[in-house]
Amino acid sequence: MNIIMFGPPGAGKGTQAQFMQDKYKLKQLSTGDMLRAEVSSESELGQTLKAIMDAGELVSDEIIIELIGNCISEPECSRGFILDGFPRTVPQAEALDDMLKNMAREIDHVIVLEVDNAILIDRIKSRSAENGGARTDDNEVVLKNRLDVYETQTAPVLPYYQGKGILRKIDGMRPISEVTAQIDAVFAN
Ligand code: AMP
Repeated sequence: MNIIMFGPPGAGKGTQAQFMQDKYKLKQLSTGDMLRAEVSSESELGQTLKAIMDAGELVSDEIIIELIGNCISEPECSRGFILDGFPRTVPQAEALDDMLKNMAREIDHVIVLEVDNAILIDRIKSRSAENGGARTDDNEVVLKNRLDVYETQTAPVLPYYQGKGILRKIDGMRPISEVTAQIDAVFAN
């Protein structure tokens, strides 16, 4: 089973993807975590990425597509994977389709976590307070830009999957365990 977790920043994609990884033995692939690892390595590429991420902008499709392409062909993804934070643009979605076609695989479900903007802002503020500001893109000004980027560049990916009939919309404002239960119900059907 191959899954895409979709939704704005702070919607709970990472939290739910982690549960699903353990429960369904699927490999969680978080492009944000991969990019943060590159930033921590203090490589030249990492420094370029940090500036883009700190501004809440998107890293180029080329870099991201190569990153994901390298991962999904790994043996640890052979049982299936959960894409967390990818695709974030229509060209990324198209490139993913091409890669999967070549591997004779496909996406089974796109889980969309729907959360109002006001709630997202509150969640990011508490995430920032809890982890002592470890994520330099977790502040209100950058978050507002990330939400704009989501609306303009990422939300247009939804009609792409709507046409394939694999969108599963979930109320992401429910308590965490209820969101998990809604996702489990999707997989059970
Ligand atoms: P996330 O942890 O998913 O919120 O990602 C943190 C940041 O990494 C984003 O704000 C982007 O700057 C970058 N990023 C993560 N995934 C992607 C992607 N699929 N395409 C472009 N940029 C990404």
